[in-house]
Amino acid sequence: MATDNPNHYGPGHPKWGHYGELRPSQIEKIRSATPVAFVPWGALEWHCNHDPIGLDSTKAQGICVELARATGGVVLPPIPMGVNTIKPYKGFGHTIDFSADLATRVAEELCLQLADESFKLVILFTGHYPPEQIDALEAGAERARKKVKDTKFVVWADNLLMGDAFKADHAGATETSFQMLFEPGSVDFSGLPAGALTLDQHGVTGDDPREASAERGQRQLDVVLKNGIPQVQDWLRNMGY
Ligand SMILES: [Zn+2]
Repeated sequence: MATDNPNHYGPGHPKWGHYGELRPSQIEKIRSATPVAFVPWGALEWHCNHDPIGLDSTKAQGICVELARATGGVVLPPIPMGVNTIKPYKGFGHTIDFSADLATRVAEELCLQLADESFKLVILFTGHYPPEQIDALEAGAERARKKVKDTKFVVWADNLLMGDAFKADHAGATETSFQMLFEPGSVDFSGLPAGALTLDQHGVTGDDPREASAERGQRQLDVVLKNGIPQVQDWLRNMGY
């Protein structure tokens, strides 16, 4: 992903970067201009035969990168820790399911550590968002809020930023379009049966994924950014940045 950022390894002041790929002086420059840390939160979860297992991580990271490119900030590696995945829910395999308690602890420690590193806005951005996942991350953020007062901790998800324009789904046309946009060549429809795909049989909700395209993914991303960028900028402005 580093190569898509023209400022990344060049001279001057990078506006954003992947945290693990930045040198200390680059982190300091980004942080002093825009003290935001985006934490993409994903999962390793069955998304039917056509989509990769890491779709939620790919989606969350792709969106966080585009937000950071616009607002500035750092993007952490995606945390592949799905709570209440489709494995316990509907019995689909190839899935690594995590307890809510562990996700809460990881969320809390990431929030506290990023605050300790002087980031003033920490956004846990999850691509996997059953209520149990949101509750687990919120519980971690809330623990951090009780300990640290001068950093804002936010739990966000792409379904909150799409408005009525696109329906959130699981491995349907919306998620599959994001996958096609962010990882071209990673989707393969050839293993799908003819006819309608269902939650119980295939682990798919929403519009048929065969309606997906990278072009639709770009339109979805445009909506997410149109709603998301001003919100991040507002949070920063309200904190004096
Ligand atoms: Zn998903």
